[in-house]
Amino acid sequence: MNMNKIRIGFGHDVHRLVSGRALILGGVKIPYPYGLLGHSDADVITHALCDALLGAAALGDLGQHFPDSDPRYAGISSIELLKEVIQKIASSGWKLGNADITLVAQAPKIVPYVTEIAQNISNACEVSVNKINIKATTTEGLGFIGTGGGMSAYAVVTIASVRS
Ligand code: MG
Repeated sequence: MNMNKIRIGFGHDVHRLVSGRALILGGVKIPYPYGLLGHSDADVITHALCDALLGAAALGDLGQHFPDSDPRYAGISSIELLKEVIQKIASSGWKLGNADITLVAQAPKIVPYVTEIAQNISNACEVSVNKINIKATTTEGLGFIGTGGGMSAYAVVTIASVRS
């Protein structure tokens, strides 16, 4: 295996849960009394994935490319940011190989939405859906996630060189 052609990236994100916000995860609006707080739609799954992609391509992080001080990104769908991230890594000669994403949340159960989330992400990344894995875990009631204060997500990706 030529390691110049494959890279790994890691991303982690956290957002606070508040009332009065829609809960958006992987571009899917999930019925729940609370939503994630942030400048964009605060889609923690998509943010972790964007950071993993940028990290793998050595292109910094999401906040650097889309600063939360910029009014253009207020309330923006993070799936749109993901599409831009894919364009940025493509400009550097990379495409997504696969992504493994873990949501850490005490509630709600996201199993009913996993297929749609994976489909949204695969569409935005222009890869087949079998390259995207979405899973979830709780913290067994421990810590700020366990008490419903927020959610976090972790993403690991491989990217492959498109240059021969
Ligand atoms: Mg974020």
